Amino acid sequence: MDCIIVAAGSGTRLGSKTPKAFVRLGDKPLFVHSVIRFASHKAIGAIIVVAPPALVVRTRRIVQSLGIKKAVVVVAGGEHRWQSVKNGVDASEADWVLIHDSARPFVSSATIDAVLALSGKYRAVIPVVPEVDTIRTFAGDRAGKTLDRSKIVRVQTPQMFLRTALVAAFKRASFLGAPPTDEAMLMEASGTAVGISNGDPLNFKITTKGDLEMARALWEMGKKKSRN
Ligand code: C5P
Repeated sequence: MDCIIVAAGSGTRLGSKTPKAFVRLGDKPLFVHSVIRFASHKAIGAIIVVAPPALVVRTRRIVQSLGIKKAVVVVAGGEHRWQSVKNGVDASEADWVLIHDSARPFVSSATIDAVLALSGKYRAVIPVVPEVDTIRTFAGDRAGKTLDRSKIVRVQTPQMFLRTALVAAFKRASFLGAPPTDEAMLMEASGTAVGISNGDPLNFKITTKGDLEMARALWEMGKKKSRN
């Protein structure tokens, strides 16, 4: 099982000049937190980091400085997330791959284990958390319909796929209208059932400035706890 960490996004919604994966969280660039967490999981073979094309060399340097015993490969990303994932998957020869957003630095081994536990049952597995807010559609400044939140979950990563099935799904990707926001959508479009496992609210994705502030506060709290 290889782990592909996608870190090639621009981070426009974060409002930062630095690409999102390279903003600092504590003493490290954001993506390094995920690299360390997956490298220390015993089920993971190689780690593949997908970096912005202009930062591949810098990413390799950062990764080498970590002294990780497992193979860590760095490849260049693409314009859309699924293209970055595809570049990462092309660098893997493992039977199974985990795809993880570098923007989720607090992934726990329990979340990883829960995904892995379903590999006997599904060829695609995604961690999810229940939706807690009331969810509505809208048009302009007018509220639309309220949806039944008991039937809605929020999708996280790492997402696990049988690599050959994912490669087959990529071949059909260009026929979809809007680019998919995750690979489970691609698998679904090619008729594969997608299993769900227990995610974790702390495994949230850093998208906005507020998310980054929350992540930094959490990081400081964790540091204080480990000192006490
Ligand atoms: O844009 P979004 O927050 O959904 O991105 C999720 C993850 O996908 C991030 O970790 C980002 O770095 C990655 N990504 C990528 N290549 C892109 C777009 C996003 O690797 N072209």
